[in-house]
Amino acid sequence: MERPVRSLKTELFNPNRADINQELGCALKQKQSCCDGIGYRLKANGSLTQAVVCECVMQCQSCFGLNRRMVNGVSKPCHTPAPSRVASLINAACLPARYCTAKLDSFTNFSGNGKEVTRNLSTWIREFDIDNPKGLILGGPVGVGKTYLLAAIAKNFANKGISVRFVDFFLLLQELKTGYAQDKNDSRVLNEAIAVDVLFIDELGKGRNSDWELSILDQLVMGRYNQNKVMICSTNYDFKPSERVNMTNGSLDDKRPGAFELDRFENLEQRIGSRIYSRLVESSDLIELTGDDYRKRNLQEKIQPTRGVRR
Ligand SMILES: [Zn+2]
Ligand SMILES: [Zn+2]
Repeated sequence: MERPVRSLKTELFNPNRADINQELGCALKQKQSCCDGIGYRLKANGSLTQAVVCECVMQCQSCFGLNRRMVNGVSKPCHTPAPSRVASLINAACLPARYCTAKLDSFTNFSGNGKEVTRNLSTWIREFDIDNPKGLILGGPVGVGKTYLLAAIAKNFANKGISVRFVDFFLLLQELKTGYAQDKNDSRVLNEAIAVDVLFIDELGKGRNSDWELSILDQLVMGRYNQNKVMICSTNYDFKPSERVNMTNGSLDDKRPGAFELDRFENLEQRIGSRIYSRLVESSDLIELTGDDYRKRNLQEKIQPTRGVRR
C-alpha cells in the first residue's frame, strides 16, 4: 500500500486539515489489534528478536507514521518514545528470538514463588528510575524462567526509551575470543556493553572463570559502576553473601581430588570474585526465583500426557 504524502506546510497553513487530523486521532491512540496499540511488532529473525514499526502507524491518517501531529496549531508527538525509537532500541538489544513474546504477565511457571516474584518485579520496574538506577540479580535454579523474565524487563525498559543490551555472558566471551583470534580489537563489543543504559547479563558466573574471563567481567562491571550504570543479571549460582569459604588460605593447598573445585565454585561470590561481587551486590536488589525446571516439566507431560499439568 502506498504511504500518503504529508506536508508540514499544508498542515501548518491549513487549519482545517489539522482539525481533521486531530479528530481522527493517531492510530496509536486507537489501540488497534494488529499491535495492541504499541505501534511496533516483534518477530524472530534468526536467533534474535526483531522489531518493526506496525503498519497501522505507517498508514496512520493522523500522523502518517511520523508520530507527530498538529494539536491546536502546535506540532506534538503522538506518543513518547516514538514506536520507531522503541523498535530501534529493541533491535539494538540483541534479545534472543526465543523470548520474543516474553512479558511479565505472560509468565506461567508458578510451581514455586513465580507469582510473588512477578508481582514484585512489576513494582520494581515501575519504580525503576534511570537517573538513580538500581540493578538486579535474579537467582534460581536452571529452567525456572529467569531468562524469560530478564527479556521481559529489557523489553519493558525499551518501551520507556531506555537503551538496553542483552548478553549471554558465555556467548559474549566467545565473541570476544573470536575477535582476538582474528586479531580484532575487542574494545568495540566491550565499549558497547559498557555504554548502554542498562546491561542485561544472562548466566552470570557461567564459564571457566579463567583470569582472562574474570578480567573481562571486571572491565564490564567497573566500567559501568564508575558511570553509575547498573546491570540486571541472572545466575544459577547461590548469590547470597555467604560465610567465607576461604579461597586464599587452605583450599588451594588441599590436594584431595575435587576439593579445590568444590570450595572455589560453591557460590556466585566465589565464581566471580569478591571485588566484582561486592560492586554488583552494592548496586543491586536480589530476587530469588524458585520452581520446577520447565524443560523437564514439558518432557514429563510428553511422556505421561494423562497426568496433566503439574502445579
Ligand atoms: Zn499516528
Ligand atoms: Zn498496529
